[in-house]
Amino acid sequence: MLQQVDLGFKHIDTYETITGPEKIAEIKSLASKLKHLRILYINSTPFGGGVAELLSSQLPLMKSLGLQIDWRIIYGDEHFFSITKRFHNGLQGADVQLTEHLKERYLGNIIANVKELDCCNYDLIVVQDPQPVALIAYSNMQAKWIWRVHVDMSAPNPSTWQFLKPFVERYNAVIFTMEEFIPEDIEVQTAIIPPAIDITNTKNMELPAALPKMVIKNSGVDIKKPVILQVSRFDTWKDPMGVIEAYRLVKQKIPEVQLVLVGAMAHDDPEGWKIYGSINEEAVKDPDMYIYTNQTSTGSLEVNAFQRGCDVIIQKSIKEGFGLVVSESLWKSKPVVAGRAGGIKLQMKGKLEKFLVDSTEEAASKIIYFLQNPKVMHEFGILGHNQVKEHFLMPRLIKDELELISRLVGV
Ligand code: UDP
Repeated sequence: MLQQVDLGFKHIDTYETITGPEKIAEIKSLASKLKHLRILYINSTPFGGGVAELLSSQLPLMKSLGLQIDWRIIYGDEHFFSITKRFHNGLQGADVQLTEHLKERYLGNIIANVKELDCCNYDLIVVQDPQPVALIAYSNMQAKWIWRVHVDMSAPNPSTWQFLKPFVERYNAVIFTMEEFIPEDIEVQTAIIPPAIDITNTKNMELPAALPKMVIKNSGVDIKKPVILQVSRFDTWKDPMGVIEAYRLVKQKIPEVQLVLVGAMAHDDPEGWKIYGSINEEAVKDPDMYIYTNQTSTGSLEVNAFQRGCDVIIQKSIKEGFGLVVSESLWKSKPVVAGRAGGIKLQMKGKLEKFLVDSTEEAASKIIYFLQNPKVMHEFGILGHNQVKEHFLMPRLIKDELELISRLVGV
């Protein structure tokens, strides 16, 4: 059987004070009609990156509604995940090569995973992202299948898309984050559901006022000097080198500024290690640059503390499915400068849009503007927090998914 992830315990009722009891009652009523379904969520890693972050909050909250939810992980070696990383990059439009050998290698591993899947029994399967996408083609399970893709597929690499499209079109429905991510030639029922954050987990919960600065100080950063922070996987789409360039431009104007890069290393992301190596080379040359990873015990609580205790958050993505880190930062009322990419645009609307950037120079100038204008930072913080409260919290995501499931199973 495919490895099962323990869901732990959460309770949807903890959201009542934030969203109001009516919204939670509505979700409970939707869930009450779906309790007979055995539902499986599948992805490729239980930690590292946005999908694992989402599922680890979403699924226990769904379980607390009385739904029968399992979370399972497909397995694969480094070679398999280097192929699926090509899918990830190719679907986002990168120029990647998929040889016949790589396709066979991918499918061979999928077939091995299907054998482990088909000994279970589910009525509905929600497959996350490209890694497990082909399971549907080999499984004999009589279930409804949903594919939930988190990346921007608006202009996929033609050869990647040609290979994956037949699998995608077997699904009963495909969930995208934004309308503009849907490839124009896709023939399948689609739904738009943006991701959301969980404000009850250690990543986002309130912290005692003194704790964030204490954590930052204990990690060696000087809390008397300004701190710019980017939290993200070490991935070229997150533009870590661009972040370093922007920081260097800021430093010309504000010499005491420091840069902290926090990056999780995920086992399904072999590219991350190479990028980590290159940014580390830059960091050793600069005493005001700091890199922390989950390998050095920088977990959710530390990320929370860094996000709350820093001065300005940057998310300089070039392509972005959603960018949970943006909502996480906005929720904490922090000033955010972010790349005008994908789902970040959904999160930074209205007056927040002014801080979306298209270049390194622009990123640097907005950071300087924030650092020199505490009042602007404060106003931005209030707007950002309210934006997340209204649109990007877990109950909204769960409600959207339950509505889709209800439509698919006809209840
Ligand atoms: N994250 C983390 N530690 C890190 C880097 C990232 O906990 O060192 C978390 C981050 O807080 C967010 C998730 O990983 O919750 C990344 O999700 P996002 O949607 O921003 O990007 P993705 O990795 O899915 O492309």
